Amino acid sequence: MKILVLNCGSSSLKYQLFDMENEEVLAKGLCERIGAEGSVLTHKPEGKEKYVKEAPMPDHSTAVQMVLDALVDSDHGVISHIDEIGAVGHRVLHAGQKYSASIIVNDDVKKVVRECFDLGPLHNPANLIGIEACEKAIPGKPNVAVFDTAFHQTMPEKAYMYAIPYEYYEKYAIRKYGFHGTSHAFVSARAIEFAGLNPDNSKVIVCHLGNGSSISAVVNGKCIDTSMGLTPLEGLAMGTRSGDIDPAVAQFIANKENKDINEMLNILNKKSGMLGLSGVSSDFRDLWSAAEKGNERAKMALDVFCYRVAKYIGSYITAMNGVDVIAFTAGVGENDHDVRKNVLSYFGYLGVELDEEANNKRGEDRYISTPNSKIKVVVIPTNEELKIARETKELVEK
Ligand code: ADP
Repeated sequence: MKILVLNCGSSSLKYQLFDMENEEVLAKGLCERIGAEGSVLTHKPEGKEKYVKEAPMPDHSTAVQMVLDALVDSDHGVISHIDEIGAVGHRVLHAGQKYSASIIVNDDVKKVVRECFDLGPLHNPANLIGIEACEKAIPGKPNVAVFDTAFHQTMPEKAYMYAIPYEYYEKYAIRKYGFHGTSHAFVSARAIEFAGLNPDNSKVIVCHLGNGSSISAVVNGKCIDTSMGLTPLEGLAMGTRSGDIDPAVAQFIANKENKDINEMLNILNKKSGMLGLSGVSSDFRDLWSAAEKGNERAKMALDVFCYRVAKYIGSYITAMNGVDVIAFTAGVGENDHDVRKNVLSYFGYLGVELDEEANNKRGEDRYISTPNSKIKVVVIPTNEELKIARETKELVEK
């Protein structure tokens, strides 16, 4: 079976077409600047030349159609007819408290995605358009919604409740939801398998460190806490997001600089984090190279990042009363050995021993702790698209 995976962002659409016989990627690509000037499709078919097409994409439906056209094109396509696609898996941001697992899309599911527009104002509308565009363009083929929030729905009340008047939870379902769920699910399951743990007696911490970053605590395969909140703004300091902050800071700056709440949230989401602290970049490669040249603010930003990651890991070790494996994943977690080394330097007292050579190597799933280390530390490349494709296959074959 061939499965198309779609990830519609506010102005972008990423896709991968899998052949599930061998889980091979037949083609992948992305549409950028949807709804703006200069929209462009970049299509990478396996074994063929990359194809780039600039064409107006006023909305996500147009983008979906361009992707489907590229997939069946006689030159750069990889299938001969759209009917070869057996199902489409959609990454959907928010399901509120409604779904704790992936689900085949029907009218009820679409209603929930719509009801959660408030909670995911940039992504959920784009996700729904993506689903409806596929319903039209590939009629009769199932669409599966894989929610970013689903894996975290097992958190207990004490982890997800904010200490604010209860009526806001009752009226608006204001609580911690958490994101990157597909990645936390994929990496925690793989870490358990890789380290040979008993899935029913395992404690794993997953550090998904990318441009957006989050950590989760996973006991016996189930999430019991995670760092992102009602929105992805909570938790770690990120590329451009502040992460945890005293909420009064927003009011203070707003009053001083005559800004409203939306402008403040924009600053906390897009102009803060590594970018805001360093004034250099949100990209960790730029930060390290600036720090090496003596840029003190870049160095400080990196210290803030690693310190915050270490504090979250420490708090999750307490929440779980121990940990078997700490797993690093995503752009920074997989590639940045200096970040990993800095984070792990806080855990000497717990008997974490870094294997420097393994840490400096690149590659697939691997230990970066020594055999004597009391806590195992692994690097596991995440693969959200493959996880979405697997879940889609499993549901449609049921
Ligand atoms: P997202 O999915 O949140 O956009 P990714 O997980 O792809 O992000 O991570 C992207 C980030 O990973 C980049 O912004 C960059 O900071 C970091 N990154 C990528 N490659 C490297 C590398 N070789 N060394 C250090 N950081 C890297």
